[in-house]
Amino acid sequence: MAAPWEDVLRDIPAIQEAAVVAVDAALLQGVLMRTEGQPNASDVVNFAPFTLLPSAVPSALFEQAYAVQQDFNMLVDAISQNKEFLEHTLASTIKVDNFTARLFRIYTQVLEEGLAQSVFLGINRSDYMFDSGVDGTPALKQIEINTIAASFGGLTSRTAAVHGQVLKVLGKPQEASRLLPNNPSRGLALGIAKAWELYGSPGAVVMFLVEEVQRNIFDQRCVENELWNRNIRVIRKRFRDVFEKGSLDEARRLYMDGQEVAVVYYREGYVPSNYDEQKWEARLLLERSRAVKCPDIATQLAGTKKVQQELSCPGTLERLLPGHAEAVTRIRATFAGLYSLDMGAEGDKVAAMAIADPDHFVLKPQREGGGNNLYGDELRQVLEKVRDSPERTSYILMDKIKPRPAMNYLLRAHSPLQVSECISELGIFGVYVRRGSELVLNEAVGHLLRTKAVEHADGGVAAGVAVLDTPYLV
Ligand code: ADP
Ligand code: MG
Repeated sequence: MAAPWEDVLRDIPAIQEAAVVAVDAALLQGVLMRTEGQPNASDVVNFAPFTLLPSAVPSALFEQAYAVQQDFNMLVDAISQNKEFLEHTLASTIKVDNFTARLFRIYTQVLEEGLAQSVFLGINRSDYMFDSGVDGTPALKQIEINTIAASFGGLTSRTAAVHGQVLKVLGKPQEASRLLPNNPSRGLALGIAKAWELYGSPGAVVMFLVEEVQRNIFDQRCVENELWNRNIRVIRKRFRDVFEKGSLDEARRLYMDGQEVAVVYYREGYVPSNYDEQKWEARLLLERSRAVKCPDIATQLAGTKKVQQELSCPGTLERLLPGHAEAVTRIRATFAGLYSLDMGAEGDKVAAMAIADPDHFVLKPQREGGGNNLYGDELRQVLEKVRDSPERTSYILMDKIKPRPAMNYLLRAHSPLQVSECISELGIFGVYVRRGSELVLNEAVGHLLRTKAVEHADGGVAAGVAVLDTPYLV
């Protein structure tokens, strides 16, 4: 994709002037993060990193990503209710991956006891890159779908205003007026509010389950404020608080400090470092409760990379979504090549293929949050080490997506202004609510564009690699 800003990119005085305006606009709009030094106080804050200029996104692919989101919502919801599928798909993984095994244990435990929860809320974000095919025509390819703690729906609702002002400063008011409004946090809050309402206890609260280190609090506050605006009370607690003060009554209603909790919205709990024995106990308590968990543990498992790989096998989507042939076609069109490393001849072949040509693949463990995947030489070394042991089944292999880079400036606090070759990743936020077997809400509620310099193979905004961006449709 040709950058639409070629004419101004090298005009250094104009860029410098625009960058100063951009940073102040970001602060004014609330594109904020707490600092690394003081992650749990708001006395001093930074702007969250963002691109100086919006990045070009092909409008057809943008529309395609929106159009498939309700299908993905339906798919995730279907997987979360399919015990046989989850059991079968994760069988090899949980033998070697302790974290997934631990989640799976809670999953089976709550099923054996019988679910107290009857209202279900899913908030997910499906992420894509634009693969430049052999003839250079870009195609929408899914990187992954996040079913827990999908972030930046708040901050991203404020970047379009910043980029609009930058374009005006650069003499491009027409282009500024073409930037799309976008407010995922309102849509996420709509889903939470619906689940809260269906839970049916007007005095109950929504609990945001948050990390010990809370640098990204402003992103969460955007969603919180939308709930307060609807007169829904929000509390923020950590696993530690739940361990110390959480309890269930005889109907398994969840209480925190004597307050009934209708909805638990996890912005925590997706990586092993989020847990110790007490926190696992807290997680189990929450999962056993009647409260609406976003996500419940089954839906978290539906978002594992192993499940993603299994979905790409012939016939799987058809089995999971019977009677939805068109949805299946739309979903499948976004899949890149995904390969199982399960033990056996097929897995042996896949391992050999990746070792012979590591630059064409990404090796992914069952982890979230960026910085865990392996590429190139490192991929080869790790795979050579584990190729003959069951340990290899803790990974999946994926074709590497190769988007065409474009030039942009990445603005970060305390960093010099310099032009970089960049690639972008588009995320679409989806929200759904189910009561019993009835899907009462299923929507795509907004987007997130993240951009990073090409030299970084991996990583998101929280990992310090990617920055917030706004799509400019071309
Ligand atoms: P995580 O759960 O850690 O976010 P992802 O699957 O999203 O895992 O991978 C992290 C990052 O690695 C992505 O944001 C993207 O930049 C890069 N990445 C992942 N898969 C691919 C792929 N198949 N091709 C190219 N880059 C990828
Ligand atoms: Mg990701």
